[in-house]
Parts: sequence; structure tokens; C-alpha cells
Amino acid sequence: MSFASLGLIDQIVRTLASLDYQSPTPVQSQAIPAVLAGRDVMAAAQTGTGKTASFALPLLQRLSMDGMQVNSNAVRALVLVPTRELAEQVHQSVRTYGEGLPLRTMVAYGGVSINPQMMRLRKGVDLMVATPGRLLDLARQNAVRFNQVQALVLDEADRMLDLGFARDIDQLIGLLPKRRQTLLFSATFSEPIRALATTMLRDPVSIEASPRNTTAKAIRQWIVPVDKKRKPELFLHLLKRHAWPQALVFVKTRKGVDQLVELLEAKGIAADSIHGDKPQPARLRALERFKAGEVRLLVATDVAARGIDIDELPAVVNVDLPIVAEDYVHRSGRTGRAGASGEAVSLVCADEVQQLAAIEQLTRQSLERREEPGFQPDHRVPETNASGQIVKKPKKPKKPKHGASSAKGDAPVVQEDVRFRR
Ligand code: AMP
Repeated sequence: MSFASLGLIDQIVRTLASLDYQSPTPVQSQAIPAVLAGRDVMAAAQTGTGKTASFALPLLQRLSMDGMQVNSNAVRALVLVPTRELAEQVHQSVRTYGEGLPLRTMVAYGGVSINPQMMRLRKGVDLMVATPGRLLDLARQNAVRFNQVQALVLDEADRMLDLGFARDIDQLIGLLPKRRQTLLFSATFSEPIRALATTMLRDPVSIEASPRNTTAKAIRQWIVPVDKKRKPELFLHLLKRHAWPQALVFVKTRKGVDQLVELLEAKGIAADSIHGDKPQPARLRALERFKAGEVRLLVATDVAARGIDIDELPAVVNVDLPIVAEDYVHRSGRTGRAGASGEAVSLVCADEVQQLAAIEQLTRQSLERREEPGFQPDHRVPETNASGQIVKKPKKPKKPKHGASSAKGDAPVVQEDVRFRR
């Protein structure tokens, strides 16, 4: 199938050829005609399978073809994303895909001066990529008007609709025209979010380009059981053993990120970090340095879990498992993109068994356990089964009292049996 056969205009088809996109990915071939036709869309597709182009290409085409003039401070299409880094990246893609089209685009997010964003809005903007908080700020200062909005995209839609963003999104949606096209894209959709999402859509086209909540097949995944306190040591060991040229490393807390970077730097390993306490320019610089191959490791909290597209990233390492199972899918999805292969390794301690079980249940897979010689944990990580349940360890039998019934007396024999088989 070709891009032209999906109804895309020559200018866009030429741009795609110059990017060496040979044919549409499955989500693109389903979403592009639907968006071009003006339909609402809810699309679930695995990480790294070209979701950005699925909404950006047809929206850019519609905006450039309808001949409407954008008024001062107005916006005609809004793409909302959960993180600043993703906002930058999506806007970069929009600019690339919109090459040669007579459209004004911009990106707006917090943590940087609002003035240039207000200036840019003065002449009106055809397509704006934004994080919700900053967009609301702009709206409060009357710098942006929504009466011309014809399309709203929620990228990483499940994250945008969950509790952290729900209030901002509710407020924003209240400001938008009711008659508009709404597009929801994500790799993961939980059932409650799906139900909520449906209420925002009008007769939507539902697209499932791959099984929901799954990681791309090209990503080899496994866990290494380890005691919590030995995680940094094991991480250094794995780094040496696998010799990944680059890896994106996830840690639960901001403090944990800083500590790991300190340790790496002390060992002479080039690393940078991204987390919510860092000023935005430093966050973007860290990402740029990593993408340019100037640092081997980028250590981050979940702010970097979603959407970030790093060419040929060979590995993702979860030093800590994410609290929310969906984030595992997004973190892993930073590797194995655009058909490449990749590895996702998680260091798991006994405390994290609940999270492990939730991840296995969500992704409907049992993650392979590879013990690392010399790092076998004292606190065993309980077994989990394929449906994500924790297999309870049989309780230690009580010593039978004198004269106890034979039923109780039998128990230790069974337990012994279990123990020997292990
Ligand atoms: P996305 O899921 O939008 O972040 O895209 C993942 C990666 O795939 C990006 O590096 C895109 O440039 C690339 N990509 C998207 N669509 C195609 C395509 N049809 N052919 C080749 N590469 C693509």
C-alpha cells in the first residue's frame, strides 16, 4: 500500500519519500483515511509504530486544504501531550511532515518563558502542540482563543485522561467548540479510561493496530531478581556484561536518579538525567545530548517514559519497576522502534512483586527470569504466574504438638516435598 492511495496530497507524499518512509504502518493505513474523512478516532497501537504521522499527516492536509484563515491569537488544531519533551518531539515531527505546506505551527509547554509563546500566537496558529498546564495559562492570559479549533488530538490519551491531568483536560475541553474532530491515540488503554474516552467521541472509528497494552514483539524482555540494596551494583555489572552502546534507564524517584548519575559519573561512565526537578532547558539538553550519542546513559523518572523517540536505542533498563503497569509498556517502547529490535531489562526485588504481577497481567505475558550469578537475592522474589498472580509460598509448617491429629501431622511431609522439588 502507498501513502498516495490513502488520499494524501502530492506535497506530503513527496515529503514522506524524502524521509524514506516506504509504506504506511498498520496504524497509519487505518487512521489516515479516517482522519481525512473528518471522523473521530480512537486508536491503540504499539509504541514506536508511527502514531504521530497517523494524526499529523491527515490533520496537516485538512488544515492546508480547507482554505480557512486563522485569526489573531486563534488556533485551528490542538495536539495535547503529557510531557514537555514529547511536546518538542511531536512538534518537530509536525514541522517535518508539514514541510512546504503554508501552515503556522508552534509548541507551548511550561518551565520556559511564556512571552515568546504569546508573541507567536499573535498572528494565529494553524496547529499547536502543547502540554495542558501551559495551554491553560495562555488561555487565562487571553493569549489564545479556541473558537476556531476544529480538531483536538490527545496523544498518549490514557495518560491525558487519568487523574493527574483530568482537571486540566476537563477545563480545556469546556473551552473548545463542541463541534470538532477528536482523535485519541495511545499504546495503552485501560477499560475505565476507554469508557471515559468514548464519552468524548462522536461515532468514532476504533482502531486496534496491534493487541492493546502489549509491547512490540521485537523487544526482548526479561527480569533479573535481586536484593534491593544491590541494584546499583547489579546495574553496573549488567552494563559491562551487555556492553549496550546506549541505554535509557528508569528509576522510581528524582533522588534515585541523581544518586545513580553520581555513581555512574564516579565510575567514568557518561550519563545525564531527566526528572521533574530539573529546569526545562537542562531536561531538553540532556535529551539532545543522549540523542546525539554524547552520553551513553540517560537516567530518568517516568517523565521520559512516553513517546520519546530515540533512533535505534538498543536497551531500556528498569532499575525500579514503575508503580503503574502501563508505564512499563511505554518505558519498554522507547526501544524496538520503527521495526528495530531492542532489549528491556528490569531489576526486580521482593518488594516489587505486586508491580511485577500487575505488569505481567496487563501485558499477558510471563517475563523470563534470568538470575545473574553472584547476585541471587537473599529475599526471594515470589513466583508469579502467566495471569499475573503471585504464587503464594506455602507457609512454614508449625511443629506438630504431641498428640496432634494425623491431618496436621501430614502437613510437613507435603512441605518437604515442595521444598525438595525446588
Ligand atoms: P512514532 O510512533 O510516531 O513516535 O514513530 C516512531 C518512529 O517511526 C519515528 O522515528 C518515525 O520517524 C518512524 N516512522 C513513522 N512512520 C514510518 C513509516 N511509515 N515508515 C518508516 N518509518 C516511520
